[in-house]
Amino acid sequence: MPKSPMSKGRCYLCGKDLGKGAMNTHLHKTHLPIALGDIPYYLIKVEPYYSKDYWLYVQVNANSNLQVLDDFLRSIWLECCGHLSAFRIDGQDYDVTVEAGDEDGNDWFESDALPMIETILQDVLEPGMVFTYDYDFGTPTTLKLTVVDAYQGKGTEAITLLARNLPLVVACTTCGKPAVYADAMNMWDEEPHFYCRECGKKAEKNKEVNLLPITNSPRMGVCAYEGEQDQYGVETVKR
Ligand SMILES: [Zn+2]
Ligand SMILES: [Zn+2]
Ligand SMILES: [Zn+2]
Repeated sequence: MPKSPMSKGRCYLCGKDLGKGAMNTHLHKTHLPIALGDIPYYLIKVEPYYSKDYWLYVQVNANSNLQVLDDFLRSIWLECCGHLSAFRIDGQDYDVTVEAGDEDGNDWFESDALPMIETILQDVLEPGMVFTYDYDFGTPTTLKLTVVDAYQGKGTEAITLLARNLPLVVACTTCGKPAVYADAMNMWDEEPHFYCRECGKKAEKNKEVNLLPITNSPRMGVCAYEGEQDQYGVETVKR
C-alpha cells in the first residue's frame, strides 16, 4: 500500500501536523474541551481495521444516535452506492433495520440487530471501549473505533472533525510520477496498481482496468468509491 511519511495528520483546530499518538496528546493538552459547557462529548479515534495509514479524531455529542455517526463516516470516507452498514458494539449489532417479511407476518430473515437511529451513544459506549463498523457487506470496508475519552463541553455540532491523516503520497506503479488513479481491478492484490494520468490512459487502451480516483480514504479503489462527498480535505485547514 502507499505510505504517508509516518502517517502524520493535521489538527483541524490549529493546523498543526503531528503523528497519530502525538495528536491525541496535543488535542488533550491544547484544545479539549473546545469550550466550557455541560454537553457530554466523546473523543473517538477512527481507523481502518486492517491498516494504520488512515485515521480521524472526532468529537461526538454523546446524546447523538448511531445513525449520526454512520452518516458522518459515509460522507468523509465511505459512501459509494448506498450499501448497508452496521456497528458492532460489545457483541451487539446495530444497523438500519429493514422491514422485510410476507403478508402473514413471517420474517424473511432473522436479525438480532438493533436500529442505529434508536441507539444513543452514551447508552452503549464508555471511555476505553473499542468497537467496529462495516460499510458494505459485499466488498466491505471495516473500521475500528476507539472511545478515547469523555468530557463536557459546549457546541452546536453533533460531530466535529478534530484531526485527520494527511493524504498519502501515492506513486504511479509504472513510472513513479504522482498517481491520480487506483485500479479497482486489483486493489485486493498484494501489490495494487496505481497510475499517473498518462500511464492510466495507456493502460485503459491495453488491458482491463477500472480506474478510480486517488482519495484520502480506506475505501480508495473499492467498488465505485470516488470520494465526492468528502468535504473535509486537509487543504481547507490553515496551517
Ligand atoms: Zn491543534
Ligand atoms: Zn459501492
Ligand atoms: Zn505513470
